[in-house]
Parts: sequence; C-alpha cells; structure tokens
Amino acid sequence: MQSKFEQLKTEALLAIKSVSDKIQLEDLENKLLGRKSGELTNLMKGLKDLTDDARKVIGVVANEVKKDIEMAFANKKNELLNLDWAAAVEKERVDITQPTLPHSERGTFHPNTIIQKDLEDFFTSMGFVVLDGPELESDFFNFTAVNVPENHPARDMQDTFYIKNHPGMVMRTHTSSMQVRSMLKQGAPLRAIVPGKCYRNEATDPRHEHTFYQLEGFVIDEHITFAHMKGVLEAVAKHLYGADTQVRLRPKYYPFVEPGVNGEVTCFICKGKGCRVCKNTGWLEIFGAGMIHPNVLKEGKVDAGRYQGFAFGLGLTRLAMLKYGIEDIRHLESGDLKFLKQF
Ligand SMILES: [Zn+2]
Repeated sequence: MQSKFEQLKTEALLAIKSVSDKIQLEDLENKLLGRKSGELTNLMKGLKDLTDDARKVIGVVANEVKKDIEMAFANKKNELLNLDWAAAVEKERVDITQPTLPHSERGTFHPNTIIQKDLEDFFTSMGFVVLDGPELESDFFNFTAVNVPENHPARDMQDTFYIKNHPGMVMRTHTSSMQVRSMLKQGAPLRAIVPGKCYRNEATDPRHEHTFYQLEGFVIDEHITFAHMKGVLEAVAKHLYGADTQVRLRPKYYPFVEPGVNGEVTCFICKGKGCRVCKNTGWLEIFGAGMIHPNVLKEGKVDAGRYQGFAFGLGLTRLAMLKYGIEDIRHLESGDLKFLKQF
C-alpha cells in the first residue's frame, strides 16, 4: 500500500511538471484529487480497510503524499499565472524608440465623422445617450416594429439589400431600427441618439448613394409634446448654422410618426435670400421628425397611455455635403485620398 502511494506521487509530480496550460492542469487536478473518483482520493478510501497499526503508519505517508501533490499543483498554478502576466505585458509593450510617421502621412477624419462627433458632443450635453446598433438588421426591427408592416407601400420608398439565404435579414435603411430595440432593452424614459451607416438600393448619381450616414434621435417620457420636439430641433439648427437660423416645419408623412414633419432651416449660405445651394428657396431641408406613433411605443413595450415621445432623423451625409460644399455624394464613399485629405 505504501508503495502505491509513493508510485502515485512520482507519476503525479512528473505529470504536473509537463503540463503547459491552465485547462490541462485543472483536468489533471480533477483526475488525481477529484472528490468523487480522483486517483489519490480512491487510494485514501482504501485506508479504512487496514488494521489500526498499519493505518497509523500508512496514514502518515498518505497525508505527506497528498500535501506534496497539492503543493506541486499550487506551484504550477503560480508558474502558469506568471507566464500569463509575462505574455500580457509583452503584448502591450510599446516600442517608444520606433520612428513616427511623417506628418504628411497622418490620417484625417472623414467629413461624416467630423459632423457625427460634433453632434454627439452636442446631444450628450443635453443628456442624450449615444447608441450603436447592427447594420445587418432583421426585417422586424427595420420595418415592422416601426409601423411599416409587410406589403405596406412605404417599404417601396426604402428599397434595400436583402441577404441571400437569410430570409428576414436586411441592410438597415435607417437607424430608426434602434427605436424599438432600445425601448425593449432600456424601457422608458429614454433620451438617445443613434448615428450610423444606412443602406438603400439606389441607382447612384450625384445626389443618391447606396450607403450613407444618418443620425436618429428620440425622446420618450411623460408629458412630452410637439413643443419639446420643436425646441430640440431649433437648438440643433442653431448649433449647426448659427444663432440667427430659423426653422420651418411642414407636414410630411413618415409611417413611424404621427404627426410627422419635414424640417427646413434658413439657408446658411444666402441667409434666406435664395442661392444655388438652396435652389433659390432660401430654405434647406435637413431633417424629418414627428411624434412617435403609439404603435411603435407598443412594439417597444412602452405604455403608450402614460408615455409620449418624439423622434427625428438628420442626414449626416447631407449635413457634411452642405457644410463642405461637396457637390457629388459619391465622393464620400469613394475612398479617394485626394478627396479625403482635404478635411
Ligand atoms: Zn441659399
């Protein structure tokens, strides 16, 4: 019996020494010391069948063997942990002697990113959270949940890319798809913006592109009115184009709001007198907005009797084009460095 303990110890110490990762070590520990059927555990169970005298002698040996094996496991664990640390430190090591790139090779922000960051700062200062969401979206969150059921004609206004072999998945046509997602996750009240990439199946020309950026925003709370919406939109317009900017809201149909409006601001180039950019109207259309349709709140499991909300969508791509006088939308997704280096 004594030799069995000693043999097990020799084998165990050798096995522990040759282990090279934590999972192997855990398996081995379980195999030897496991409460139910560990090899050492089983051997110790045999002690009870010995005579009193023999048990006293062999019991001492058995306990020493157990202690030695446990010690070997503890040491090995420490050793592996130190290896982990060393690997982690090595991975994060920065070579401070490496030469930097010449100044002219530094990247610049994409015009869409500049506008997006500016608006994220502005909205967070008003207590909005910034949310992100999937670009490959389910048909449900992109259309059905925002009050555009199957076979609704509004789906034709937003033809998009459907994914082969994945029925029910679309490239999102707007970031409004995050409205119901976030209501389900966070409930009401909620104050959020969702900037991001959207897709439409468009024949491209200087004014149309299959990929563009949008910023959706929404506020859901008790006693929210159309006046709150107008106040926020005016604040955005003044932030973007100066304190003397006027906002004009005109009724427009969007399936997910009721009532819905088309939002225009006084042209920041001609100050409302009329020019080429505003097509001599003095106004620039920059957003769509409205009070969130109760059906959308219901999809989000928000109590539509208690809470109201408004939502708005700004075209980040359009804002960037206006701000920088970009005449062709296709430049923005072209990846052309001659274009990108101007910002
Ligand atoms: Zn103008």
